Amino acid sequence: MWYDELPKMLRLICLFLLLYSSHAQSEPITLRQSCINSLQAYKSFFKVEALAEVCDKVEKKEICNSSNGVPIFHLDQKSKLEKPKKILVISLIHGDETQAGSLGRFWMERLMKVDARNTWRVIPVVNPDGVKNKTRTNQKGVDLNRNFPTADWGDDAVKLWEKKEQKSPRKFPGFEAGAEPEVKCVISHLEEFKPDFVISIHTPLKVLDFDGPKLKNPPSYDYLPWKSLGNFPGSLGRYLWVERNTPVLTTELKNSLPETGTVFEQLQDLVGTLVKADLK
Ligand SMILES: [Zn+2]
Repeated sequence: MWYDELPKMLRLICLFLLLYSSHAQSEPITLRQSCINSLQAYKSFFKVEALAEVCDKVEKKEICNSSNGVPIFHLDQKSKLEKPKKILVISLIHGDETQAGSLGRFWMERLMKVDARNTWRVIPVVNPDGVKNKTRTNQKGVDLNRNFPTADWGDDAVKLWEKKEQKSPRKFPGFEAGAEPEVKCVISHLEEFKPDFVISIHTPLKVLDFDGPKLKNPPSYDYLPWKSLGNFPGSLGRYLWVERNTPVLTTELKNSLPETGTVFEQLQDLVGTLVKADLK
């Protein structure tokens, strides 16, 4: 055999390379490492160790993988108070909205340090393939925020996309309602976690858009004004609020980050207060 005819040293090198490559292939990346790899790209206002603390605690549902098989992980932080409300944060459903990643990361890191009034679940990167490709859409070119299986999806989603959006590739609702793996992951979270309130983080429209009951006293937030943007066939707002009565706050951040984390803290506290006071 060719192998036996090689000089001994060369044989050893071959063997080493063979073992090394099979070892490298068989060692899957851990969820912790996957979390660090994806979130370290976003600016944090905490010390660097804060990310490791978060990533030590993240989990993943079996169904939660992107089209490319990248894990879609989440962090659970339970309130110690009795009967807390449950808040679900969904970030980077659009892969090119980078600052959404910073807010998701900030809230997770902060939740490790405070005793929260509510129970929080954060899914910081819903569309990892879009993040990698720097696209709004997922790997298959679908706008995930138009792919939720709303009752009107079959009649309206594609029609609206063709007429109103002039077939913009950024807003393609997909071939079938709720068929995208990332949407299936979010729906599985909604069904199991049963949030009282959902926050969806986007950029760059610089507003707070609320799909929910009329607020008695909408708390003021100087960094972003309240403005209703409406909802669409296949959007999370229509799926959750219009059809399921779960309020959704869409935070449309600016394209540039604030200088400190204070406004991110204020927004998290504002949500906590809103959920406690206004949504009984
Ligand atoms: Zn967006």
